[in-house]
Amino acid sequence: MSDLILFWHRRDLRISDNTGLAAARQQSPRVVGVFCLDPNILERDDVAPVRVTYMIGCLQELQRRYAEAGSQLLILHGNPVEAIPALAAALQAKAVFWNWDVEPYSQERDRTIINSLKEKSIESLTHNWDQILHAPEEIRSGSNQPYTVYTPFWKNWHSKAKAKPVETLQNVEGLTQTEQETANIAGAIQLPTAKDLGFIWDGGLIISPGEAAAQARLEEFTTKAITEYQEQRNFPAVDGTSKLSAALKFGVIGIRTVWQATIEALENSRSDEAAAGIRTWQQEIAWREFYQHAMYNFPELAEGAYRDAFKNFPWETNAEHFQAWCEGRTGYPIVDAAMRQLNESGWMHNRCRMIVASFLTKDLLINPQLGEKYFMQKLIDGDLSANNGGWQWSASSGMDPKPVRIFNPASQAQKFDAEAEYIRQWVPELRSLDTEYLVTGKISPLERHGLGYPDPIVDHKKQQQLFKQRYQQQKALSSAEC
Ligand SMILES: Cc1cc2nc3c(=O)[nH]c(=O)nc-3n(C[C@H](O)[C@H](O)[C@H](O)COP(=O)(O)OP(=O)(O)OC[C@H]3O[C@@H](n4cnc5c(N)ncnc54)[C@H](O)[C@@H]3O)c2cc1C
Repeated sequence: MSDLILFWHRRDLRISDNTGLAAARQQSPRVVGVFCLDPNILERDDVAPVRVTYMIGCLQELQRRYAEAGSQLLILHGNPVEAIPALAAALQAKAVFWNWDVEPYSQERDRTIINSLKEKSIESLTHNWDQILHAPEEIRSGSNQPYTVYTPFWKNWHSKAKAKPVETLQNVEGLTQTEQETANIAGAIQLPTAKDLGFIWDGGLIISPGEAAAQARLEEFTTKAITEYQEQRNFPAVDGTSKLSAALKFGVIGIRTVWQATIEALENSRSDEAAAGIRTWQQEIAWREFYQHAMYNFPELAEGAYRDAFKNFPWETNAEHFQAWCEGRTGYPIVDAAMRQLNESGWMHNRCRMIVASFLTKDLLINPQLGEKYFMQKLIDGDLSANNGGWQWSASSGMDPKPVRIFNPASQAQKFDAEAEYIRQWVPELRSLDTEYLVTGKISPLERHGLGYPDPIVDHKKQQQLFKQRYQQQKALSSAEC
């Protein structure tokens, strides 16, 4: 057995502040990275071409980083359950290290791989946890239960000391020429392009791929915009949020590095407003973690509603309405602007994610799982835990003490896009209209037809009543069953 350790990258596409990778380097001077393109994931019908494009770009940079550090990042394409143990055995690796993940698929796959490596007498070290600041077991209520409500979770989570970033991989040895040839025989390939894998994305990316771009974005955001985050974060026409979500989803930046940047920003803040902005952003980081803990503690969330009243909810199955929502043709300007931003840029502002999710579930009465899947098919940052959490929150089906939250598209637009800048940007056929018509949506049928813009597909007031009625019925039924 050699001194070689393979480090398996999954959603940690970086060599800096990577806990599992740093642990591997401490145990051996020879560490080689490996990434496996998994058909079980890539062949699902909820993969966004924009996300694959970003991921491949991140892998390209990761290969460069490994080369600079003195080693290699190998690429495999196949079921990791076979491909990872086969590569490790062929290279006679001493161990395979990786960081543990909260997602149900990932955990099941990893357990199989641990067993398979054991059979080959190869050690595995799965590092808990790299992508979150606290292990799920660490954040428990007084009665030692996982939290199902955010505010007490936040209080507990925030009170705990946070780890500092760990060392960047450097001065490491990689494979010899002969070992590289062995790796090729065992399945190592050149990194394909997204197109090679069948994913075509011709739009831009809201963040350039790779560690350097994510670090630069973090630095830029935490030295300036973060101080205005509390006032600016809700306005979709303003560039007031970090746009780090894709980098966080793929672990292109370490979460300890992110947290450390907020601590430094707090130390340097010069006003109460600035400090409030930084604290609010810290709370968003905690939301991300709340949903990851929730997915780990309650994996059934991935399958559907958390609350009983929504388990057998009589959702509508109007395919035309769903299609109009997907395409941004509902006749509600703020909803359509948001859906077109998603389709054209692969990203959507958080305020608008809430507006369109509420519209799909409370106005069209369509099953949130359809919306959740459509988001996964389009988002650069599409992430099971955050997306599921966002959809369950918006549908009122999840872990949220507030029973029925319904967004009125017109009042949302009046409040958060008062000058209709966002609407004009994404719904160009309406640009010539006065702001008042755009935000209230009160556009005459004649004008709509003239501009080629659809009539509202439903009446918000009526639908709201219908939703409430059905909700009350379901609530009564589910409590009768209990
Ligand atoms: C219906 C719905 C679906 C969503 N789907 C996703 C998704 O697939 N992937 C995703 O990363 N986020 C999702 N979110 C959360 C949020 O909209 C995005 O994280 C945010 O808009 C990303 O932009 P940003 O990086 O500029 O965020 P910032 O405002 O700068 O926030 C910083 C980071 O905190 C995290 N964060 C912020 N808000 C939330 C939140 N509500 N829940 C969880 N994490 C949060 C993200 O990692 C984000 O990058 C969803 C929200 C809703 C309402």
